[in-house]
This record gives sequence, structure tokens and C-alpha cells, in this order.
Amino acid sequence: MLIADDKMPPDLLYVGGEWRPGRGAEITSIFPADRSLNRVLHGASREDVLEAIDRAEAAQRDPTWRSLKAHERATCLYRIAQGIADNADRIAHIQSRDTGKTLKETKALALSAAGTFRYFAAVLETAEDAMTPARGDYLSISAHEPIGVVAAITPWNSPIASDAQKVAPALAAGNAVLLKPASWSPLVSLELARIVEASGLPKGLLSVLPGSGGVVGDLLVGHPAVGKVSFTGGTEVGRGIARKAADKMMPVSLELGGKSATIVFADADLDVAIAGVLFGIFSSSGQSCIAGSRLLVERAIYDRFVARLVAATGRLVVGHPFDPATQVAPLIHDDHRDSVADYVRIGLEEGATVLTGGAAPRGDVYDQGIYYAPTILAGVSNAARICREEIFGPVLVVMPFDDEAEAIAVANDNDFGLACGIWTRDLLRARRVGGAVKAGTVWVNTYKQFSIATPFGGVKDSGLGREKGRDGLRAYMSQKSWYFDTSERPHPWAASVLGGGA
Ligand code: NAP
Repeated sequence: MLIADDKMPPDLLYVGGEWRPGRGAEITSIFPADRSLNRVLHGASREDVLEAIDRAEAAQRDPTWRSLKAHERATCLYRIAQGIADNADRIAHIQSRDTGKTLKETKALALSAAGTFRYFAAVLETAEDAMTPARGDYLSISAHEPIGVVAAITPWNSPIASDAQKVAPALAAGNAVLLKPASWSPLVSLELARIVEASGLPKGLLSVLPGSGGVVGDLLVGHPAVGKVSFTGGTEVGRGIARKAADKMMPVSLELGGKSATIVFADADLDVAIAGVLFGIFSSSGQSCIAGSRLLVERAIYDRFVARLVAATGRLVVGHPFDPATQVAPLIHDDHRDSVADYVRIGLEEGATVLTGGAAPRGDVYDQGIYYAPTILAGVSNAARICREEIFGPVLVVMPFDDEAEAIAVANDNDFGLACGIWTRDLLRARRVGGAVKAGTVWVNTYKQFSIATPFGGVKDSGLGREKGRDGLRAYMSQKSWYFDTSERPHPWAASVLGGGA
């Protein structure tokens, strides 16, 4: 197959600061808009991973990195941020080809990745340790130090943003990082490595190791030299990583799946709510952990609201990722579209009605790519599998509710707990409902808004720990407590037995 685009990174991995061909299994990256080939990449072998770990350990222990002052390390992170911003168009192009996302979205993700490096440079420079209240003649200090070698394992849906959210705080904290991107989207992480290398970061502190989760990921998780795994991906893989981490007593951060509820009360501004609900589920073609995939609408407005929502959904522009008018781009892979289509079939078997969509669009560009029409299903209860399991595609399930208590109960009746959207003009009600819903993030009259300064993460099956925010740096450090004696006297407990003389 011919490679369709000469901007794709070469078939080389970044192992311990060196570019070289991988010795592991082949990975094929395709452009989901037409299935043309981006790159066949030789992934990392066990030997590549072991070498990267050795070099990471050595580079992290090296005094040139360990003894850098916070502002010196921050300078390196600022250079990476600038490198990403300067290359934002190139990064966006590679990521759109790798994932099928619109160029508009991937450009925004690239700029947000630059912002993440800038933010953690600033957090690093302003982070303080604490002198704690002493209960005796000593100074007591609570200090933080790097963990050592950290593994970052990322999913395919927003790779540059996920990579930055792990690599930036982990490097800022003084660690070495081994980054394993998803096999469906390996290319943009290699471009990040090129930018990091140009920043002058000492060699060995970052390796980028595409390769299968079962080989590369598993080896990283189990290796004794890896002191933390920061994982973003599906709940089942995350659970397996947590089990292995327990054997090593290793800390993990787990950013996992979701089945988030959006609740529309009758008093909501309906235009604002419809636009927010559409954005919440259909942007990124629904391939988003925080997709608002369960919509609960107060019965008094249910018919009117759903009719308008369905009409608006039909007007969304489904199209090529490079077309600026496109709102809903292709899905990442044929296997993933099959899984989305399977869920719609399961929904129909469960008694759901398709209000719009429900199939791949046909004709024109659609026949060449991996498209799926924005889909709304109704007519099932919250017990249905399509209401309980993450579909990770452009599929929304709509249900009516009668009162606040029912809305809260249905929102909480799910294994996941990532996010919740509430649409109402009554802010006291928003506060009540948002307080009662078990979720890591609550949006009121908006959805899918983020700030690197605001912590993000889930509860229940949606994960463990938080990324972003000032504490995002601490997640990659271990705490050490220090006691400095100031009494200059022997301990009274043993003073009586010291005797005299030298
Ligand atoms: P996934 O299948 O869990 O894979 C995620 C990463 O883990 C990939 O790099 C994968 O490698 C690797 N992996 C697979 N098996 C592994 C193992 N045994 N040991 C170590 N690593 C392993 O998830 P995905 O399909 O890429 O991404 C979609 C999921 O991510 C959804 O559930 C979504 O909700 C979640 N997500 C969560 C957030 C959040 O912040 N909460 C954000 C984005 C996405 P391979 O690609 O080689 O299999």
C-alpha cells in the first residue's frame, strides 16, 4: 500500500533518546476518512522496552537532571510548550490523519497540549514544601521528591492532549517518562518526542514506545523499575493494571470510561440546552470519555425538546476531517464502528426506537471512510445495556423523568461516575442535583468545558486519582518527611546511660 502523506513521522521509535527502528510487531496507522495508509510502524519489542527503562533509570539518577533547580527544569518545559505551539498545524495534521478527528479539533488539542506544558512549568516554579508544626525541639518538614521512572499509557481518542497531561507533570516533577501510545494512533506521540528532543531535555528522560498493550504496556506495568503508571483508557484494562500495581505496591492514576448523564429540567433555556447536549455527545463523534451519552429530559418538555433535538441532529454536518464545515468526522477504525453498530443493534433488540441515524451514511465521501450517523435512541429504561455500557460513539439514549429525585437516582444508577450536565435556570436546584450526583465533574448549563488549572478525574468505575490542577504535579512525586534536631542535647530517654568520657 502507498503511503498517502509525506508529513507522517518516519518508521522510527524514540528509545532512550535515540531514534531507531522498532524490533517489535508492525502497527498500521490509517486515515479513517478514506482508509489510506499513514504509516506501517515497527513497534517496540521487549528488548526495546527494557533498554528504554535502563536508560530512563540512568538519566533520572544523573545529577545533571536531578540537580537542576526548579526554574531551570521549568525553562525546558517552556521550550517544549513553545515547540508544540510552533508546530501546532503539523501536529494537528498528523493527529487528524491518525484519528480522523477534524483539523479544528486537533489544532485545539495541540494548543491545549502546549498550555499543559506551560502550566506545569509554572506550577513547578511556584510549588512549595511545608514546614510542619513541631512538637519538640526539631524542625519538621514535609518535602516532595520525584518517583523515579514513570510509565504513561494513553488511549487513541485525543492522544496529544492525553500525552501532555501525563508527560508534562511527570517531567516537571523530575521523573523520567516512558510513553506508550495506543496502537490505533501511534504517530502524534512520536512527533511530540521530536519536539521534546529539540527542547534539549537530557536524553533518556523520555522514550516513546508504540506497541501492543499486551506486550509493551504489560511489561511497563510489571517492571520493578517503574514506580508509577499513569493510565488513560478503558475500565477493564485499567482494572487489570490496578491489580498488577497492587502486587508491586505501586501508585497508579486511572482515567477510565464513562456513561455520563445530562439532565434537562423544564425551566432550562432550551436553545442553550439543545446546543450543549449536541456538543456533549456528538463532538469528537462521541469518542470521548465524558460524552453525555444518557440524556434525561423532564417529562413536561420531553416531546417538544426531543423533537427539536432530533431535527437539529439531522442538520449536523457529517463529513471529511479536513472540511472546515464538518461537525461529525469519521470514527477511528472499522472495528470500532462495528462495535458502535453492534450496540445500536443491541438497543433495538432491547426495544429501543431509532429517532435519527442508526446506520453508516452512504454515498459520496461516506463510502470511502469510517462514518457513522449521529444517532438518537429512545424507548428503553436505564436498565438497558445501551444505558449502562460505554458505546464511545455518536449514540445518545434519551429517557424522560418526572422529578428531581428520579433524575438523581437514574443518573447515579450506573457503574461509571465521570461527569454530569445539568440544564436549568434554577441554580439552587443545580447545586442540589450536582451535589447528589456521583461524578468527578458537574457542568451547569454547559458541557465538556476544561481548564488545565481544574482537576479532572472520575469516581466509581471511571477511575482513581486526578490529573491537571496544582496537585497534578504532586501525583508524580512521593512525599518525604524530615526532622532536624535543634536541641543539641542527647535524647533524654537514653541520656542517663551515656556515662562520661569519649
Ligand atoms: P484501552 O483499550 O483501554 O487502551 C488504552 C491504552 O492501554 C492503549 O495504549 C492500549 O494499547 C493500552 N493497553 C491495552 N491493554 C493493556 C494492558 N494489558 N496493559 C497495559 N496497557 C494496555 O482504551 P482505548 O480503546 O484506547 O480508549 C478508549 C477508552 O479510554 C474509553 O473507555 C474512554 O472512556 C477512555 N478514556 C478515558 C479518559 C479519561 O480521562 N477518563 C480520556 C480518554 C479516554 P493498545 O492500543 O495497543 O491496545
